Amino acid sequence: MCKPRVAILGAGPAGLGAAFQLARQQSAEVTVLEQNSYVGGNAGSFELNGIHLDYGSHRLHPACDPEVLRDIRSLLKADLLDRPRHGRIRLRRRWIHFPLKPLDLALKLPPAFAIGTFGDILRKQFPGGNDNSGCGKETFASVLQAGLGRTICRDFYFPYARKLWGTEPESLSAIQAHRRVSAGSLAKIVRKVLAAIPGLKPEGSGRFFYPVKGFGQISEAYYQAAVQAGVQFHFNTSLTSVNMQGASRSVSFLQDGQEKTIETDNVWSTIPITVLARLLMPSVPMKVLEAAENLAYRSMILVYLILEQNQFTEYDAHYFPETAIGISRLSEPKNYNASIQPEGKTILCAELPCSKDDDVWTQSDEELGTLVCESLAAAGIPIQTTVLEVVTRRLPQAYPIYTNGYDEYFDQLDKWLGGVDGLLTFGRQGVFAHDNTHHALFMGYSAARCLDEEGQFDSSQWQRYREIFKTHVVED
Ligand SMILES: Cc1cc2nc3c(=O)[nH]c(=O)nc-3n(C[C@H](O)[C@H](O)[C@H](O)COP(=O)(O)OP(=O)(O)OC[C@H]3O[C@@H](n4cnc5c(N)ncnc54)[C@H](O)[C@@H]3O)c2cc1C
Repeated sequence: MCKPRVAILGAGPAGLGAAFQLARQQSAEVTVLEQNSYVGGNAGSFELNGIHLDYGSHRLHPACDPEVLRDIRSLLKADLLDRPRHGRIRLRRRWIHFPLKPLDLALKLPPAFAIGTFGDILRKQFPGGNDNSGCGKETFASVLQAGLGRTICRDFYFPYARKLWGTEPESLSAIQAHRRVSAGSLAKIVRKVLAAIPGLKPEGSGRFFYPVKGFGQISEAYYQAAVQAGVQFHFNTSLTSVNMQGASRSVSFLQDGQEKTIETDNVWSTIPITVLARLLMPSVPMKVLEAAENLAYRSMILVYLILEQNQFTEYDAHYFPETAIGISRLSEPKNYNASIQPEGKTILCAELPCSKDDDVWTQSDEELGTLVCESLAAAGIPIQTTVLEVVTRRLPQAYPIYTNGYDEYFDQLDKWLGGVDGLLTFGRQGVFAHDNTHHALFMGYSAARCLDEEGQFDSSQWQRYREIFKTHVVED
């Protein structure tokens, strides 16, 4: 008997997780179509001057689903390092260790910030003192202000939100606060801080996993395992249509200037849900397409500065909430895998969230290099050596933007696509989710688990998985 055929769109962690799990179950014939020439999507890596670089700071968090972690460990073996986190946040011109540490907070917290936060805690203890300005509908701003108080919001979360999503906190949905901010209350922050004290430390706290050859080594390992198990990959594809009409389903794409079509029984899409909506046949109704038009992704430019020095700082990442500093985060990849090679060179990766309509999106590498150097000088960590080269990469879909009411637009689109037999959409771009790589892999595994070798898809089980996906909270 022929196995069901599955065409997976996108070779990021979600698509790779599904391909890997289907191949392991031997329940389907799998083809993956990817627009890039490499796997991993936003969680991929590339090499420059002998240094493995990610598309912005990426770590594998210990909160990873145990089965996914077991697989990653068995695929990467000794190449998966267990590393201490060592970052810092610039808060009111001072540096605070991130993750937060009790002693560091006690000694270095800016006085105005400490007094303000203490006042916020006191206000919460007394009736009527709640910070929730809260008449009307909940927003990102009202939820965080109620949970964390004014000071942390004013000095950290709100300016950071403006930078990350390009939108005022009051215009962002409350869902953004619930999904994106893992420490949503002062009590949770206190628990996290206490977790840094030896003895109170839960397993994995303040640590992360990181592959020797960059974060993308995880995706590369899934890709290799899937290929060995018989999965077919097509790279550099430009999708032209996804035909789900009747029983003869197919995906058409351009590759090397030629139009190609593959027949399939199922299409599992991990590409942006808004793009899928435009490619689909039967055509998505105009009203649903209009809903899709209201869903927007925040883009990001990654600016890599190649420096003539062994190490820029000892920190893996610096976080910049202040709006006066253009970049949101700076990471030093050599510090992620504790590499001392190559000698005499290091690379910095600056993250610059933006919209594709912003002038900055089309700026030259040189201009962007200058912008980053100016940002670092303004943050008090100027570059004091030669910048040998500036290299940039652009992520068109870095973060989904949860503006107020986005969920109604998403639900309309998701509901309509969910009614198309044989079609699934999942992964970060597919469910418009702020997820981590381990969540995307878990989604891929979950989809595969719902399909048996006779081609029966267990939709009820999939709905139960979808409910689990909604509980995923992003770890930073
Ligand atoms: C700056 C930044 C930092 C992050 N840090 C972390 C971190 O520390 N830890 C962590 O776990 N996660 C982190 N993440 C999240 C992580 O990158 C995602 O969870 C993960 O990449 C999601 O995988 P995915 O497969 O769902 O989506 P993607 O990685 O976006 O993959 C989608 C794939 O689909 C392909 N595609 C898109 N359109 C088409 C098309 N039309 N045709 C064919 N192919 C297409 C893309 O090229 C891509 O390969 C971070 C993300 C960003 C942006």
